[in-house]
Amino acid sequence: MEKIVIIGANHAGTAAIKTILSNYKDKEVVVYDKNSNISFLGCGMALWIGEQISSGEGLFYSSKEDLESMGAKVNMNSEVKSVDFINKKIVVSVEGNDIEDNYDKLILATGSTPRMLDIEGNDLNNIQMVKLYQNAKEVIVKLEKEKFENVVVIGAGYIGVELAEAFKRLDKNVTLIDHCPRVLNGYYDDIFTDEMERNLSNHGINVALNETVIKFTGDENNNVNKVITDKKEYNADMVIMAVGFNPNTDIGKNYLKLYENGAYLTNKKCQTSDKDVYAIGDCATVYNNAIENYDYIALATNAVRSGIIAAHNVCGTNIESEGVQGSSAISIYNLNMVSTGLTVSQAKSMNIDVDYTDYEDTKKPAFMEVENPKVKIRIVYRKEDRVIVGTQIMSTYDISMGIHMFSLAIQEKLTIDKLALLDLFFLPHFNQPYNFITMAALNAK
Ligand SMILES: Cc1cc2nc3c(=O)[nH]c(=O)nc-3n(C[C@H](O)[C@H](O)[C@H](O)COP(=O)(O)OP(=O)(O)OC[C@H]3O[C@@H](n4cnc5c(N)ncnc54)[C@H](O)[C@@H]3O)c2cc1C
Repeated sequence: MEKIVIIGANHAGTAAIKTILSNYKDKEVVVYDKNSNISFLGCGMALWIGEQISSGEGLFYSSKEDLESMGAKVNMNSEVKSVDFINKKIVVSVEGNDIEDNYDKLILATGSTPRMLDIEGNDLNNIQMVKLYQNAKEVIVKLEKEKFENVVVIGAGYIGVELAEAFKRLDKNVTLIDHCPRVLNGYYDDIFTDEMERNLSNHGINVALNETVIKFTGDENNNVNKVITDKKEYNADMVIMAVGFNPNTDIGKNYLKLYENGAYLTNKKCQTSDKDVYAIGDCATVYNNAIENYDYIALATNAVRSGIIAAHNVCGTNIESEGVQGSSAISIYNLNMVSTGLTVSQAKSMNIDVDYTDYEDTKKPAFMEVENPKVKIRIVYRKEDRVIVGTQIMSTYDISMGIHMFSLAIQEKLTIDKLALLDLFFLPHFNQPYNFITMAALNAK
């Protein structure tokens, strides 16, 4: 029986394991993960810390028992230390002892690790990483035990902004610092980020942009007490690090081909430069349709999809990824923003010549007097062929379904002109006869 070893059993690994065991009965699946739990949904961390949900226990959708009931051999608390790719052997550390195993096919699903700033004081107490269940639990236990007043969140990407809201909901003095000039810089243009910055400030969060953190200082107990930037200093009882992630590729980086940030370079089958080794999720690249090239986009959605694709290919069914658009969303104090593909500022930084069309209106006709919030949209398209490469939408209304259509539009290379003539239904309960998507497309230059 062919033996498939999977290293890492979080979102990517779990998707691969379940796909193999549900579709192929003639495979032995052996799993190693250094963690003690499986499938923690980090997206629920801010909701849990901010007490919008009562517990973190519901933030799992699988377990060792679940995977074992399907037929996998699952070894938790087992860290793979090295891989001999030539002889197809691995060395695993289990409770301090090294054991050896072998494979016919290998799936690397080792994910990513949050970055720490390499600056003075980074080893002080209460500077918290936020990724694992254990990280969230530690933050919550500390908040219960100590009278922390001042929380500084470093990094104003999705995770930093969500956690700033969470700590503010607990009535802390919250400062959100980023060296970029805008929050959510990598996902939205300024007409959207301006609104999010106002939203955060209006709720009492101190937003400190264009500031680079240069040092942490601590008290006599080695507890952090200040965050010092190139412009100011801030009192801090707790610091949250949300400055991005590095792919975990130590075990393969000297043998397999890597992308510019160190992730495993994979093809559309999720195969690495070794044909018997696949890499999925946060440790690997994805194909980005918006730039028509390989890219690194660390999202649970990409992890799950790549897990499914690798699983079929590893078992001999030839399927390729359709590529991704990096679709993502955020909801802060009921201000919802969704994005897919490229922003105008990203396109400029990559020398992609784009135009864009903006439109803002109430979602429904004016005669709908109740619950009729505004919607703002920007559609970004290439100048050369008018193909749509990005869209951002914002509202206090649930506009999440709209962005899925734009994800498909980018994947299928739809032009802005075809979008203008797309058959979109009208019903006053939902939209206007000239709805905001059609209007934005019709207004394109
Ligand atoms: C706070 C937070 C919020 C997020 N919100 C969202 C969201 O709303 N939507 C979204 O799409 N994404 C979100 N993400 C991103 C998402 O969590 C990641 O993209 C996802 O976890 C990637 O899954 P993965 O399985 O590839 O990697 P990981 O989750 O990093 O899992 C890798 C696994 O490999 C194991 N491992 C690593 N090295 C070894 C080794 N040598 N030996 C054995 N085991 C090993 C680890 O223990 C781990 O279990 C969020 C992330 C965070 C931190």
